[in-house]
Amino acid sequence: MTYDYIIIGAGSAGCVLANRLSANPNTRVLLLEAGPRDWHPFIHMPAGIAKLVSRKGVNWDYNTEPEPNLDGRRLWWPRGKVLGGSSSINAMCYIRGHARDYDEWAAMGATGWDWNAVLPYFKRSENNERGADDFHGSGGHLNVADHRYRNPLSQVLLDAAAQNGFPLNPDFNGAQMEGFGFYQLTQKNGQRWSTAAGYLNAARDRDNLTITTRAMVERVVIENGRAVAVEFQRKGERVRAEATREIVLSGGAINSPQLLLLSGVGGAEQLRQHGIAQKLELPGVGRNLHDHLDACTIFRCKQPVTYDKTNDVWIALQYALFRKGPGTSNIAEAGGFVRSSLAPDERPDIQFHFVPAILDDHGRNRLTGRGMTLHACHLQPRSRGHLELASADPATKPKLFANYLSDAEGFDRRVLVEAVRTSRRLFKSKAFDAYRGDEMFPGDNDDSDAAIGAFLRKKAETVYHPVGTCAMGTDANSVVDPTLRVHGIQALRVVDASVMPKLVSGNTNAPTVMIAERAAELMLAG
Ligand SMILES: Cc1cc2nc3c(=O)[nH]c(=O)nc-3n(C[C@H](O)[C@H](O)[C@H](O)COP(=O)(O)OP(=O)(O)OC[C@H]3O[C@@H](n4cnc5c(N)ncnc54)[C@H](O)[C@@H]3O)c2cc1C
Repeated sequence: MTYDYIIIGAGSAGCVLANRLSANPNTRVLLLEAGPRDWHPFIHMPAGIAKLVSRKGVNWDYNTEPEPNLDGRRLWWPRGKVLGGSSSINAMCYIRGHARDYDEWAAMGATGWDWNAVLPYFKRSENNERGADDFHGSGGHLNVADHRYRNPLSQVLLDAAAQNGFPLNPDFNGAQMEGFGFYQLTQKNGQRWSTAAGYLNAARDRDNLTITTRAMVERVVIENGRAVAVEFQRKGERVRAEATREIVLSGGAINSPQLLLLSGVGGAEQLRQHGIAQKLELPGVGRNLHDHLDACTIFRCKQPVTYDKTNDVWIALQYALFRKGPGTSNIAEAGGFVRSSLAPDERPDIQFHFVPAILDDHGRNRLTGRGMTLHACHLQPRSRGHLELASADPATKPKLFANYLSDAEGFDRRVLVEAVRTSRRLFKSKAFDAYRGDEMFPGDNDDSDAAIGAFLRKKAETVYHPVGTCAMGTDANSVVDPTLRVHGIQALRVVDASVMPKLVSGNTNAPTVMIAERAAELMLAG
């Protein structure tokens, strides 16, 4: 069991690395994934996301600790545990963030990750079905497509946005991010295009690439300051695999820092508390946890057009026979990026995702009737949390302290309050007159700061973008350097969403793929 490279986690980043690193037939690569193969049909049918959410077999199913500023609620954090990782269960919206996000990374110490430096990697990864231009690529492994089917209400949202003076935007990843429009999707031929579909399937027949599923890595073995092997559980047995060149952690923003801690790299006090032999004191591991907090404004819909009650047999048939119809929809078809009155710079600070259905508690709370939901999240939160081990047992989930809405000035709360007001305003526009029923959430028509603040405490949820827990940089709290090597340990890198020093202003899958594309190049350069 000796390889050149061992990659831990076959998610958004891990599948990219597996493809790129194994391109040379003389390089032996082992890809270890804790979850199963991505065989389940709901993974591939985009609208299957509605049913995937509650499938425990492909989900790590995390919950935060009680959140002090959210009425002590534990927020549910789904993460993909399957080939493709979270790109196999996500909502498929293709968004890169704002150019300034990356310039800010570089200014924070992530040298070489400014916008001009990262744009070529976004383009390299992409096959945009609209074709290549200054901002987009073609020929890459990540297929980016327009919807094959759109619910009529999604267009109504855009009409409402225009009535409120917001610009319409046909490409959020082009010259201008601001405005409302339809999302482009990581899909191909009406099917989800996870990184397993895009990158791994193109490489899986290579003799020099070994993909092992249901392999739960428990520890990276570090000897004399160098990562030399990994230990994992498979079918009840503990297995050891050795790496002659490098080991890469691509377990995502929760599992990569957990694995570093289990391997003896992290805050000294935490390691001591759990009886883990310290290999290196690195206090930043697990810190700087942050996420996009989101509020769902929901109105009842008077017309039978929503996705709440659908003819599932007909949808499945249309999908199976023609790859057409609502089965190809990611449900969150339209949305927008807006600068609130509090936005400190030119970047939009609120993102909207519109769902033509009632979506309460991630769709787990099945309410009767028909409705329409407007998600609004704050894109540049100032609140920071952390995660820590609950136990030295790798099977025990770490404790997640998201610490939402905890920034000292209450800035994060104020932006979200304004976001909810904007959602309401959009729903109350003329464009929605023929559809709008009663307001379900917040539900009291009280637009005061106090009432919306109380609603946020009671109902705000994640929009699934935790990052930052192995932050890239050069300061004392960073974990990896700008080449993604773990400070102070040889032959060990982290490549996934955890290395983002700061959240981008949008969804996080495409940025993670970009990170992995660039990381592969850095690794191959030696
Ligand atoms: C429900 C949901 C909806 C989302 N919607 C969107 C969207 O529409 N657009 C967008 O851009 N982003 C979206 N995201 C976010 C995006 O998908 C993630 O940010 C991105 O996939 C993170 O990639 P990653 O490589 O860091 O981690 P992941 O893709 O989560 O991959 C980590 C992999 O490592 C494996 N792993 C972890 N620990 C171990 C271990 N110990 N041993 C072996 N394997 C291990 C995991 O099982 C997993 O496969 C969504 C996320 C979720 C959960």
